[in-house]
Amino acid sequence: MLDERIIQLQKAVEQPCPECNGEEYIIKDNRAIPCECRHQKKLLKSFKSAEIPPKYEHVTIENFKEINSTCAKLKTMAKRYAENFTPGCTGFLFKGKTGSGKTHLAVSILKELIFKGYSGLYTNTVDLLQFIRSVQFNAWKYDELTEMMDHILQQDLLVLDDLGAEKVTDWTRERLYSLINKLYENNKTIIVTSNIDLHELSLRLGDHTVSRLCEMCMHDTKFPDKDYRRVFLRHFL
Ligand SMILES: [Zn+2]
Repeated sequence: MLDERIIQLQKAVEQPCPECNGEEYIIKDNRAIPCECRHQKKLLKSFKSAEIPPKYEHVTIENFKEINSTCAKLKTMAKRYAENFTPGCTGFLFKGKTGSGKTHLAVSILKELIFKGYSGLYTNTVDLLQFIRSVQFNAWKYDELTEMMDHILQQDLLVLDDLGAEKVTDWTRERLYSLINKLYENNKTIIVTSNIDLHELSLRLGDHTVSRLCEMCMHDTKFPDKDYRRVFLRHFL
């Protein structure tokens, strides 16, 4: 169950392009101009490099179900946000229980922006910290840490999923502060999802990190408690 637009893109780039015979440029008025297939290939590459997990490949703003008035408002807000996005603009901190639709909406905004030509990356907080841990203390792999950070800082949007799910230690607190502060200093846009409220996040991550997040994100977005995943499946399947 994939996003139909991505299926169409995949089909388009798999077939030899009749317009340019695979050259990616066409000649018009004695000038070489990029063929539409070049744009499609670039888009598909952006989707692949966004690292959206297969579980969320089908999600779109359109298929975010309006199971109640709060979800309807969230859907409208996401549409407007994607329409008016500019790199460096304020992001979101989506709060709500597991299964409330936070990741669905965060990923669908990311996908919408990629369709508009922006770059973006999905990352799960626990996975990101595990990766950092695996390379940070390994002299042979330390360059990968710099490369990863450079890669993150090149994106127009970062989705940081499930903040607060990590085991809290001094090390995770420091790493998360360092990451979020780097994004803050570089004027980056992030959409963060979390199962826990701001007070609890402050206790776990520290005030410095959470105050940075609050400056970078609209943080009054609370998802309804109802299990969105179950209702979504009932509507969708
Ligand atoms: Zn072409």
